[in-house]
Amino acid sequence: MAQTVVIGAGPAGLIAAEQLAAAGHEVLVAEAKPSVARKFLMAGKSGLNLTKDEPFETLISAYGEAANWLHPMIQAFDAQAVMSWAGGLGQKLFTGSTGRVFPKAMKASPLLRAWLSRLDRAGVEIKTRWRWKGWQNGALVFETPIGAQYCTPDATILALGGASWARLGSDGAWAPWLVEQGVSVAPFAPANAALSVDWSPYMQPHFGAALKSVRWWAGQFQSRGEATISAKGLEGGGLYSLTPALRNGTPLFVDLVPDISKDALHERLSAKKPKATLSHWLKNGLRLSSQKVALFHEMTKGSDLAPSHWVETLKNLPLHHSGLRPMDEAISTAGGIERHSVNEGLMLTALPGVFCAGEMLDWEAPTGGYLLTGCLATGRWAGQSAVEWLNR
Ligand SMILES: Cc1cc2nc3c(=O)[nH]c(=O)nc-3n(C[C@H](O)[C@H](O)[C@H](O)COP(=O)(O)OP(=O)(O)OC[C@H]3O[C@@H](n4cnc5c(N)ncnc54)[C@H](O)[C@@H]3O)c2cc1C
Repeated sequence: MAQTVVIGAGPAGLIAAEQLAAAGHEVLVAEAKPSVARKFLMAGKSGLNLTKDEPFETLISAYGEAANWLHPMIQAFDAQAVMSWAGGLGQKLFTGSTGRVFPKAMKASPLLRAWLSRLDRAGVEIKTRWRWKGWQNGALVFETPIGAQYCTPDATILALGGASWARLGSDGAWAPWLVEQGVSVAPFAPANAALSVDWSPYMQPHFGAALKSVRWWAGQFQSRGEATISAKGLEGGGLYSLTPALRNGTPLFVDLVPDISKDALHERLSAKKPKATLSHWLKNGLRLSSQKVALFHEMTKGSDLAPSHWVETLKNLPLHHSGLRPMDEAISTAGGIERHSVNEGLMLTALPGVFCAGEMLDWEAPTGGYLLTGCLATGRWAGQSAVEWLNR
């Protein structure tokens, strides 16, 4: 029986711990916060989207540039596997119309409770308030309520998360300690982030309202998802998937009537009463929601649009914004441990016996269950690779 330490009790760390315990190893999970899986529990607040029930090729393409890297890991723990894993923890699931899979309970707490008691039965020991501080003379150093603790396990799994929502535990503080050891860590950047928009007072009545049936695009990225108008700007899955382009300053556009062709719009425009104003035509001719009409005016204010430009502007409305909201507010982060710093088993080549998993690896994916699927798949993979390495 080998001694193993998993650092970080999020979904990636917990599933890795399970692999090690199942192979008969002693497992200590060290978690910095006073309780485990705080981000996972937060994810459940607005409905825990566990995975996306869609063909594997579609699923894997959501991981963009990292798809090739994560392919074997997600193939070994794909959407069906995530569903049966959650089912094995007593969760009844449902699949929404877009393929998103949720527990019927919607929240994460029932699943987490069942998972923790299974880990307990498997002999996994979890220590909370154990903050890892790096290495000292080859030993892992932890700051704990009973003073500094040192461990020299046979295998270590790092599952420390990305660098957003720091108050839930994932603060990215680990990056310099790994860089010191010769590991390449790509700078963190917001992923699945909202946008800051400096709204005029005219938009206030629409705060909290959703923009539905729209098409957003920025460079090669496009999406048909919703976004909500907030006091700070715009947020929601419709925009989150465009973050890779928006991060680089690519201009953002929205088509407010994606289901009506330009020709059909021109036809409707020619049928309008000669004296009808733009507002009248948008509201009564096209029956646009008040939020869409407000957004159209907000983004075109100051320009006296001639009717000949109305259709073009409706289909290609430039969305003026002042950039992404701060990284700490983002659902997830890009950046982290680069692919070339780990081997196929997610072991750090600079630190044999140290494996990495979850959001701390340099991959990103849109919301829709892809994040948890990626964290679970890489956590499981790292755990199994550690078992193989211990058996070598
Ligand atoms: C509001 C919100 C909603 C979300 N909704 C969804 C969703 O519906 N579906 C989905 O797929 N994804 C969702 N996500 C993303 C998902 O929760 C994360 O991608 C996932 O939790 C990352 O898992 P992880 O195990 O890699 O890291 P984390 O869950 O961040 O866990 C890392 C753990 O490591 C601990 N840690 C960090 N540093 C140290 C240290 N030095 N010592 C000891 N412990 C340390 C942290 O305290 C934390 O517990 C959501 C995220 C947010 C913020």
